Amino acid sequence: MTTNPDLRRIAEAIRARQRFVLSSHSRPDGDSIGSQLAMAYALRAMGKHADLVNADPAPPPIMQFPGVADIRIAPQVEGAYDAAIIMECGDLARTSVAGLDRYFVINIDHHQGNTNYGALNWFDAAAAACGEMVFDLVHALDVPLTVDIATHIYLAILTDTGSFHYSSISPRTFDICRECLEAGVDPVMVARNVYDSNHMGRLKLFGAVLSAMQIDQTGRIAIVYLDHEMARAAGGTYEDTEGLINLPLTVKEIQAVVFFKQIEGEAYRVSMRSKGDIDIAAVAKEFGGGGHKNAAGCTASGGVDGLQKIFVDKIERAIQLQDRRTAGWQHVK
Ligand code: 5GP
Ligand code: MN
Repeated sequence: MTTNPDLRRIAEAIRARQRFVLSSHSRPDGDSIGSQLAMAYALRAMGKHADLVNADPAPPPIMQFPGVADIRIAPQVEGAYDAAIIMECGDLARTSVAGLDRYFVINIDHHQGNTNYGALNWFDAAAAACGEMVFDLVHALDVPLTVDIATHIYLAILTDTGSFHYSSISPRTFDICRECLEAGVDPVMVARNVYDSNHMGRLKLFGAVLSAMQIDQTGRIAIVYLDHEMARAAGGTYEDTEGLINLPLTVKEIQAVVFFKQIEGEAYRVSMRSKGDIDIAAVAKEFGGGGHKNAAGCTASGGVDGLQKIFVDKIERAIQLQDRRTAGWQHVK
């Protein structure tokens, strides 16, 4: 039995209840969907009832995974449930699903700054993916790791580590992946489904966005931008931009990327990525957003030129902070 008291309490609460509704953040990703479905399969293996409700559908590549098509897309939830299990959400509003607060809320998350909104809360910032936490919970519930559960846990880890690029990875990450493979996961098929199932409009959209990419004066920050007009012209949709932000980071000199996606008018979704120790989450937090050291986001309003300047300045400062830490370390050595 686990020694973690939060995990133990959650396992006990799950054993004592029968009907569950599971939700995760709006605009879902591989970790939110993978964690949710791994959990749903585990609950069903225990003979329990599990419904899944999200505000938005999964991105097309993730739609291909087992059980994803059965997730109900709705702005609110009602019905008789003994508990709502919320995964991957720093606060309950991140679900964009109304009515969840009427249930006994179990909060399982790895985002820095989680607000402990649940009746039971388990927060682990050291987990590279929420899927790692679900792995522990499945184990604590004595549910055998079936291939469906393991596939979703592996999907969560593969995507939330930026296919094993982010500094959140630990030896545990690989221990869990090893167990997933032993349970029958086909890592080649998972990678193909996630990364090699583009349609041509998506690739054209990538081309348009990358052609318009700008680089800051230090040569270390890539700035990418997309508005509705560009998406229409390229024949792609906003959902098709999933993963695009990681491409500028494949350039050796590029240390960070900021991606402005027009919501409407002068309102933008801002997504950011960084390499190594550059803390991009600290930048997102300054604008009311959040995330992880290497992957974070927020929303912002204003003229795009002004916004770009503000964000690039903050990111340059975050890079300088990391430079200083590295210099200090070399000095000590
Ligand atoms: P993405 O850039 O893929 O939308 O998000 C990257 C990471 O930042 C994810 O872990 C996501 O949960 C987090 N994130 C993105 N936008 C927001 C936001 O507006 N608020 C918070 N708290 N986290 C965000
Ligand atoms: Mn995650």
